[in-house]
Order: sequence, then structure tokens, then C-alpha cells
Amino acid sequence: MEKIPARTDPADEVRRWVIPGESRVYVLTFGCQQNEADSERLLGLALSMGYGRADTPEDAELILVNTCAIREHAELKALSIIGGFKHVKEKNPRVIIGVCGCMAAEPHRVEDLKRRYPYVSFTLEPAKIASLPSLLAGVIRTKKRAFLLPDEPTAVPPIDEGIPVERLSRHKAWVSIMYGCNNFCTYCIVPYVRGRERSRESGEVLSEIKGLAASGVKEITLLGQNVNSYRSDCDFAGLVRRIGEIEGDFRLRFMTSHPKDVSDDLIACFGTVPHLAPQFHLPIQSGSDGILRKMNRRYDVARYLSIVERLRARDPAITLTSDVIVGFPGESDADFEATLDLLRLVRFDAVYSFIYSPRRGTPAAEYPDPVPPDVSRARMRRLLDLQCEISAEKNRPLLGQTLRVLCDGPSPDGTPGIMTGRTAGGKLVHFPAPEEVAGTFVQIKIDRADAFALRGTLTE
Ligand code: SF4
Repeated sequence: MEKIPARTDPADEVRRWVIPGESRVYVLTFGCQQNEADSERLLGLALSMGYGRADTPEDAELILVNTCAIREHAELKALSIIGGFKHVKEKNPRVIIGVCGCMAAEPHRVEDLKRRYPYVSFTLEPAKIASLPSLLAGVIRTKKRAFLLPDEPTAVPPIDEGIPVERLSRHKAWVSIMYGCNNFCTYCIVPYVRGRERSRESGEVLSEIKGLAASGVKEITLLGQNVNSYRSDCDFAGLVRRIGEIEGDFRLRFMTSHPKDVSDDLIACFGTVPHLAPQFHLPIQSGSDGILRKMNRRYDVARYLSIVERLRARDPAITLTSDVIVGFPGESDADFEATLDLLRLVRFDAVYSFIYSPRRGTPAAEYPDPVPPDVSRARMRRLLDLQCEISAEKNRPLLGQTLRVLCDGPSPDGTPGIMTGRTAGGKLVHFPAPEEVAGTFVQIKIDRADAFALRGTLTE
């Protein structure tokens, strides 16, 4: 009888290609926290196949570029960096370059990468991270490039549990609890590149968080494109309550939420559920009901304000932050003034504002009445000035207070002896301290409060 050859595990095929101690992987991440979390899985998979970690692309034999498609600028920046990797491949033909992330789920970009970037070996869309070993094994075995056409946006890809994760921080962790989005805001590419919403089983999420808490992680952020529409055997508020029962000294945050999915039960979690940090990031996008309708946001300003009122009734000191898009097609002066009025009324602690960037394939990219770039820029400046004033005013009452801060590490600007951390409300604090306090909670007396950061002194 003819013998059927045993199927080779693709990860084993890659392991045979990898030169121990020499072959290293470099992962470059663009974009949001979800991409950072995905990069930790890409890295985990590569390490599990025998690669070591490279500090620079020049030291790597496997380069994974985890891209973002949310704005044109992010895509062009990624393409320009990918272009720079040509010389790495020329120097070492063993180098394999893969483009992952949201750009790898855009058919026109996949085509572009295939045609114009011959040194790129494969693309891998975000919903298929688990297939990195088989993709890589195929490229190594056949010496052919692999550019798979992304799934249709209507697809509901399976959730792959058990992918190894190489966490880049020892004290902070991302935990993805749901993937994809069903909302189709008219400006947004996410539903087309990350597929339909699907949630992880609550048991999987809880056991991951128990493990993180037991290993001493101090801050856990639940991630999802539309995190508060999570649903498995419980809804999002139910999940938050169950996480509140887990033992450990850690803070719980979540992002990004959609106003239409903010339930009374979720609001009631603040101040009652242990671990839950007093912070809510809730994108408003515009203060004009007309623009919100054109954006297909499915709430109006009145509904948004009622959420803010209820959140502040539960916890008057809760940190509220938001996202705003400036210059959406058809945004009139009056629409923009309505956004400024909303900012004055709500008085967010911080606002992340963006000039509208048309995304191919989204309805808004076809809308008439584009706002001229100079008008958008002028509006943006006014918005930033206003929010800067508000943020400074919101931070001022913190002067003289002593706050519990989770120290993240040395200040990113490299000032010697200065460490950086976050308050429970998520405010950035700089303070002089020894490096040993990185990754621990410290008490900081605030002695300066600016719009974007606080400064203080270690009190213990
Ligand atoms: S809710 Fe809207 S903005 Fe957020 S990911 Fe979904 S479509 Fe994009």
C-alpha cells in the first residue's frame, strides 16, 4: 500500500529555515492600540518559530510591517518606509518582508504592493494573523510571493485563540475582546478591512486577565473597534463586572466605545466595579446633528450629552476624552461652531482631533462639498486653541493634590532622572524619580498643571 506522507507542520518548516541565533524578526507598528496588540501576536508567532528579536530592520531576516489605513497620511508613510527596506533585501536575499495590518486588507493596496514593491514577499490581513506560519512556510518552500485577496467585507472570520503573545510591557497589557465593526460610519475604512464584529468567549477573556493579574500586570486595557458592543454569554457591562471580581492590584481601561452602545448598566459600573479606572474615551466626532447624520453615527448631540450627564452624575471627577473630525464634507461654518460649542459645554479633559481624510471605498469619499484644506486647517487651529484652554483649566484643580500614578518608565523626551506615568484618570504626569519605580504605583504630589501634562514630586 502506498504510504501517505505525514503532513508537515508549517511552523516546523519555518523552524528548519531559521538559523538559530542568527535569524531575527523586526516588527514595525503603525496606528492604533489594536495594531500594537496585533504586533505582539505577530512577534509571538515569529519567536515561537525560532526567530530572535532584532532591534533594527537591518539586523532582521523577517520584517513585518503592521500598517494602518485610517488616514491617507498613515498609508503613505508606511509605503515610504517599506520602500526603504529594498536595500535590506538587496544586502541579504534571505530577508522576507511581509506587510500586515489594515493596508493588507485593501485590494488596491495589495495590488500596488505586488506590482511596485518586488522585494515584499507577502501580505497578511489582520483577521488572519494565525496563518503567518503557513504563509511564511509557503514563501520559503516555493520561493514565490503570496498576495492573497482579502476576504469580502461581509466575512465573519473565526477568532483564533491560543496565538502566542510576546508582550512588550511587563506592567501594561492590551487584551482584545472583540474584533471588527458593524457600524459603517461613512468616513471609516475599519469595517472594510477588519470585517464584521465578533466577540471572544468571556471565559477566554477572563482566563487571560486572571493570568495577567497573577503575573503582576498593573494596567489592562480591553480593546475592540467598538468595544462596548461586546457580546458573548454576557454584554460588555457584564464582562466588566466579572473582571471586577478578579483579584489583584490593577487598573482596568477600555477603548474605543461607541455612544450608541453606552448602556445604563455600563455607566453604573463606574465607582462600583473594582479596578475600573475613572476614565471614559467616547468619540463625538462632530457637534452638529446634520454632520453626525451624514457620518452615520446613529446618535445625536442630545443623546451624547445625556450620556455625559449620567457619567458625571456617577463620578463628577471622571476623565472624559473624545475624538473630533474637522472638515468632514459639507461641514459649514455653523456646523463647526456647533462643535466648538459642544466642546465648551462638555469640557472634555482632552480631545484627539483629526482633519477629515477621504478613504477610498467609503461613502464619504464620494460626498460633494469638500471643505478646502486651508479652511480645515484654520478650523483645526481654533479647535486646538480652545481645547488647550479647557484642558489647562480642567487640570488646574489637581495642583497640590497627591495622586496614585502608575509609572511607565523614563520620560520619552529622554530628560535624565525624569519618569513618566498616568493617574487613574489617565492623565500624563512627569516627576523626578529613580528608574526602579518603573512599572509600580507611586504617590505623586502635583506641583504644576499644564494643558497636556502634570508635573509633580514623589512623596514616598
Ligand atoms: S464605529 Fe465607526 S469609526 Fe469606529 S471603527 Fe466602526 S465604523 Fe469606524
